[in-house]
Amino acid sequence: TDAVVIGAGLGGLLSAANLLQRGKRVIVLERLPHAGGRFTAKYFQGVQVSTGAVHMVPFGSSGALAQMLERLNVPQQLFDADVFGSFHVHGKQYRAPGLLSILRFLGPEQSWWFFRLGYLMFFSKLPDEELDMPFARWLERRINVRRTPQLVAFFERISRFALSLELWQVSTREVIHTTRNMFRFGAPAIVEGGCGAVARKLEERILEQGGEIVLSCEVMQIVREEGRVTGVRVRHKGSGDEELIEASLVVSDIGPRATDGLLHSRKVKQADVLKRKISDGAESVSDTNGLDLHEAVGLKIHILSEISLIPHRGIMYCLDTKRIAGIVQPTNSDPNLAPEGKHLLITHQVIQSNNVEEERALALADLHMLFGDTFDTHCRVLTMGTYRGEWPVNRMTQGEDLTPTTSVEGLYLVGDAVKPSGYLMVEGVAQSVNHFLDLLDS
Ligand code: FAD
Repeated sequence: TDAVVIGAGLGGLLSAANLLQRGKRVIVLERLPHAGGRFTAKYFQGVQVSTGAVHMVPFGSSGALAQMLERLNVPQQLFDADVFGSFHVHGKQYRAPGLLSILRFLGPEQSWWFFRLGYLMFFSKLPDEELDMPFARWLERRINVRRTPQLVAFFERISRFALSLELWQVSTREVIHTTRNMFRFGAPAIVEGGCGAVARKLEERILEQGGEIVLSCEVMQIVREEGRVTGVRVRHKGSGDEELIEASLVVSDIGPRATDGLLHSRKVKQADVLKRKISDGAESVSDTNGLDLHEAVGLKIHILSEISLIPHRGIMYCLDTKRIAGIVQPTNSDPNLAPEGKHLLITHQVIQSNNVEEERALALADLHMLFGDTFDTHCRVLTMGTYRGEWPVNRMTQGEDLTPTTSVEGLYLVGDAVKPSGYLMVEGVAQSVNHFLDLLDS
């Protein structure tokens, strides 16, 4: 074997397919009984219920992920959003075919501030001091936030839905880079067959190219000699057998914290991460020793509805809610994601406190506020789950990401802790793989 990939999440699968295309012999090791990580889905009551993603690809059919899938000969139909989105505000849903449609609910004064911000963000040269500021602080400096509640909510809800972050958790620089890329690449898309279809097709492609994917196989240790990686020690979950797999290239898709753990033969437990116990290891693969790694956390609800509640393929941002930032109805793009005639809706929000019960109750209250009695009579909550610790929305918050290189030669990181600036979610995962491949070539 030339290369071992730890983790069959999207980052691991994309890395493996790219390495195989370059003629390497590759083995992917996954501790779960299925591949795809947080970008796949399982059938539950006839619905494609995802393990993470809301079936969306942020930059749609021309983004980094779509380009990579094309290069890998993995055909994938992506349904780009047909509108910028819609906005639920003042008790009704405003359809926004383009960005400027938001002026309809902003009114004259807030619209003026909207243009002013647009000019500052995209046509002026902001000093580094302002670019480094949390976006919330920058807004406070540049506009009168008390007089612009819907404008602030507009930024806040997009950040919560797309980045799973509050505006004080993301820098002005990152907001500008990400927004620029949204304009450059275009609208988000829903994947035909849902995110599970991407994972399945990548698996098939890897096997076709002669790669191997071993499921229910947990990597227990990353082995190295004299600062160079030499392989991994694994445990097969069914038989309990342990094995050493030698390779001079190891690609880790499990994030920096768990990768650090494996270098010290230590398993990172979910409970430890939630308690925010920081690694006391003497060294760290990514120079993050002693630093807390900040993941983005969220709560997602799958809802099955008898009637359509969102009349387009984009995101409905909810500006008057306490928690829910946005909702998509992916069955508008691919009706097969739910039983015939039914509609799947997925909500997303940031978890704002450790009181998960309260977060869930506030989400349900939001749904009643948004849809009234319709929600009780026509909708059913299928799942409501939190995503944090070692199964977060993002392993590193947008803009705080690491680089793929580590302090161990031949060991690289990919995935959602390695997203380059401006590339969010799975676009960042795809770009992390591009970055890793560039480093391999150089
Ligand atoms: P993962 O998917 O976590 O893959 C890592 C894999 O490694 C896992 O399969 C894990 O089981 C395995 N593993 C861990 N430890 C070991 C070990 N020791 N040995 C072997 N295997 C191991 N992104 C979007 O673009 N669009 C969206 O709509 C979207 N919505 C989201 C909504 C939610 C609620 C969440 C949680 C995430 C969402 N994301 C979305 C983010 C997206 O899901 C992630 O960016 C992406 O799936 C991360 O992929 P990854 O390969 O980096 O990591």
